[in-house]
Amino acid sequence: MFCIKCGKTAKIDNFCEDCFLQKEKLFEAKDLELRFCEHCGIKQEAIKEYVEDRVKSENELEKIKTDLKIVGNKVYTKITCTGKIKGVPKEETKKILVVLRKKTCDMHVKLFGGYYEAVIQARGPEKEKIMEQVRKLVPQKALVSIESLKEGYNIKIMRKANAGKAAKALAKNYKIRKTFKLAAEKKGQKLYRNYYAIR
Ligand SMILES: [Zn+2]
Ligand SMILES: [Zn+2]
Repeated sequence: MFCIKCGKTAKIDNFCEDCFLQKEKLFEAKDLELRFCEHCGIKQEAIKEYVEDRVKSENELEKIKTDLKIVGNKVYTKITCTGKIKGVPKEETKKILVVLRKKTCDMHVKLFGGYYEAVIQARGPEKEKIMEQVRKLVPQKALVSIESLKEGYNIKIMRKANAGKAAKALAKNYKIRKTFKLAAEKKGQKLYRNYYAIR
């Protein structure tokens, strides 16, 4: 048997190995669009992961390598795959374009809208110290605002979980009183706010 294209000895499906690999595709990749929150930002690793997750192949892929060149909101992406097609090893490279689109994630929409689920109330003679500790214990992204009052500080926190964690850590040294209030009702959903008075 000879290769129907070049006449060399045929090895696979009436083709020699070279001609077979030339006509067979190892993988497919299309241009992509990626939406990300401009306030959270995006890392190169995340772009690579997004691209690599969308590489399609019916063959065995052994390795995927992605190189990025970012110009403005365009990412010129080079994908190199190694693998096997019907047992024959092949390395293939494709270039695609990834367009980055900015949006604002749910968390940031809430943060900018002043949304909060919990309040830590720093009170008593050590209110300053308590407030400083809360600042350290709560991730910066979850800290909505700090209000200064005569009796102390009201620290608004976006997530109950973050507030709960901070309160738990402070419970080692301070007295904590937890209450909750119905803050809003939207589309039948009730939002209860947690209050932690700490002194
Ligand atoms: Zn051939
Ligand atoms: Zn965000």
